[in-house]
Amino acid sequence: MRISIQKSKGQTFNQFKLAGVISVFSLMLISFVTIDTVQAQGLDHDQRRAIIQSLSDEDRQKFFGMSREGKKKFFQERVEESAGSGGQPAAQPGGVPGVEFIDVHVHLIGGRSNNEDYRGAAIEAIDHMDRLGIRKAIIMPPPQVINQDWYDYPAFVHALHKYPDRFSFLGGGGELNSELHKYSAPSSVTEDVKRAFADQAEKTIRDGAIGFGEIASLHISAVPGHPFEFVPADHPLLRVLADVAAKFDVPIDLHMDAADNEMPVPPRFKDGDNPTLLPPTIEPLQRLLKYNPNAKIVWAHGGSDPLGSMSPALIGKLMDEHSNLYVSLRVVGGRAPMHNKLLSFGEIVPEWLNILNRHSDRFVIGSDSFFVSPNLRGSGPGTRFAQRNLPKLRATRHFLSLLPPSVARKITRDNAIRIYGLK
Ligand SMILES: [Zn+2]
Repeated sequence: MRISIQKSKGQTFNQFKLAGVISVFSLMLISFVTIDTVQAQGLDHDQRRAIIQSLSDEDRQKFFGMSREGKKKFFQERVEESAGSGGQPAAQPGGVPGVEFIDVHVHLIGGRSNNEDYRGAAIEAIDHMDRLGIRKAIIMPPPQVINQDWYDYPAFVHALHKYPDRFSFLGGGGELNSELHKYSAPSSVTEDVKRAFADQAEKTIRDGAIGFGEIASLHISAVPGHPFEFVPADHPLLRVLADVAAKFDVPIDLHMDAADNEMPVPPRFKDGDNPTLLPPTIEPLQRLLKYNPNAKIVWAHGGSDPLGSMSPALIGKLMDEHSNLYVSLRVVGGRAPMHNKLLSFGEIVPEWLNILNRHSDRFVIGSDSFFVSPNLRGSGPGTRFAQRNLPKLRATRHFLSLLPPSVARKITRDNAIRIYGLK
């Protein structure tokens, strides 16, 4: 059997046939034993994934380091090999249907006052979780400020009780975060303010939260009504929070858009409620990490960075220097307008794979999904963000299916259990 590739405009392949033996490729095409044409790059997504999954860790790392041309050639050889072995499968499909993970960063949108319906939002979440392989979700209030009608864990905790195996929660995104930003000027933070903040933080954990979140250092506004927030990560109240987190051995989920220098707001966010210049954020984070090395900081949204500085190289360097730094990954699809994405053309970016291997104990999945009560018809930011759930969760599953199994086990499950103290 021969496969020849024409590098003409249409990049069509000559027809080729797999001698009537059941192969993984034919299975994927349901009842076709003959594959008439194969797409330009050789194989479809599932077929490429099956081949990648059959590689050893070392070969996988090599593969993701190849050029586009190299990868094309690699797949071509695999197809030929499979044909040469009488159509035996080069790899087993699977991976994706079986992918399960713990999602450490999920929001419920339950509405306010008379319309409040967190039970509906929780059911919506469970429905998606069952379909998309999310074994457990850690729910948290988004990082809100004083002039929003903020809410915190007391609003939704009753809706989670029914599903103790499926949900845990973080607290503080309303009550603590709005206090933090109310006292954004460090000089306004008196000893009394610190004490009240620490008391509220301790109460949050005693009420059953397994950590603090979502807490914002720099939070740029993506759309009108989505707040701009900034305090440096080593703000006095974040130091207080780090001390409480260390005392209870719980993590802080930190939203901190990454800017290594002062920078203008990217044009993409010009409709948001942002100042014209954004402050640098990395050095304050380093000071916070150093201030209390027993406080676990989970830096949120790795892999979809709106400003451009949250690169795998920077994360690797910070993780080398600070053993208390963790990163939750928000995997997005190819078209999302973000920087430092984990996937490129459906494959893991080699710089990312390198760092995920090197610091495999420090990464978790935090999809930043928003599950909205079906009774709400709002058009607020949360409802708008919810439209991104499916593409993100599909990209997450695809990403996880490409990881070396030993790394995938840690990132999908073991790390979350250890960092968050999950039962
Ligand atoms: Zn966030």
